[in-house]
Amino acid sequence: MKAILFDTFGGPEVLRYGDIADPTPGPGEVIVDLRAASLNHVDIDVRDGVSRFDFAMPHILGVEGAGVVSELGAGVTDLAVGDRVAVSYIRTCGHCEWCKRGQDNLCENRRLFGEHIPGTYAERMAAPANHCLPLPENVSFADAAASLVAFGTAWHALVGRAQLQVGETVLIHSIGSGVASAALQICKAAGAQVIGTASTDAKLARATADGADHVINYRNDADIYATIQDLTKGRGVDVVFDVVGGEAFTKSMFVMRPYGRLISIGAHAGEVVPFDIIEFFRRHISYISSHTQTRDELTRVLRLIGLGTFSPRVHSSYSLREASKAQAELATRTNYGKIMLDIPG
Ligand SMILES: [Zn+2]
Repeated sequence: MKAILFDTFGGPEVLRYGDIADPTPGPGEVIVDLRAASLNHVDIDVRDGVSRFDFAMPHILGVEGAGVVSELGAGVTDLAVGDRVAVSYIRTCGHCEWCKRGQDNLCENRRLFGEHIPGTYAERMAAPANHCLPLPENVSFADAAASLVAFGTAWHALVGRAQLQVGETVLIHSIGSGVASAALQICKAAGAQVIGTASTDAKLARATADGADHVINYRNDADIYATIQDLTKGRGVDVVFDVVGGEAFTKSMFVMRPYGRLISIGAHAGEVVPFDIIEFFRRHISYISSHTQTRDELTRVLRLIGLGTFSPRVHSSYSLREASKAQAELATRTNYGKIMLDIPG
């Protein structure tokens, strides 16, 4: 099969469109002929060699993918050749304490497609049958592949972890990212007010079109936290959805209402930050961390996309062989929504 492969760490130029042996399904596994994959910043970290994951070379990147089941391994009875599926990207063991509790995103033996094991920048992949989530009829492969990380992560953080309530006000930092733009749609579906920040007016215009109630350009607003206090008439926000860390994490504390929840799901702007414990305990603020999602949550997200409640935002699409070009665009961080790879059938 054709795949995007790399043999050494480096820039986009190390990626090559080449041939590699077709995967074969083990017991309980199926082969999925991929039709769409999408990019994540972690792909670039893995390619650059800064991810600290162990994997064999040549490696195939790609966390998210969707396609058609083309081959069944021994013992697979609940899928058929021709089924349209999205592949849950956390390969779990099924027998550890967390898997048994249904919190499979915490599996002690988890391996992620595209990070520890071959991923979705390929024509085919092998996956456990129970990781293949059937697609509602009207959900395209591209929509499915664009949704797994973004909507799955945002759903787990806001609904599962922060228990977002109707009428709450949510501050979403860097609202142009895939996860944050999904968070915006989830907040609006849940009846919350949203204040979004971003670095460009173009991203803010997209967020406004997607329902953001207030938007702030943090590059040309001298004090976004004073602006947030003005926008909320001094009331502050109930939930902060923070994908960036750094100063956003430190300063958000000061615009949170009592019983506010600060959700961290990333920290590329600063991983180690000062933390004002006084503000934190006097106002009963909860610090909540969140990472990935369960397969059950992904199934719900796909159902809501099928119902039209959520609509993944796609910024651009490239053919599989153009993966290095697609990654170069992702690296500019100018996208609103996902960058996709289209995989010919
Ligand atoms: Zn497990």
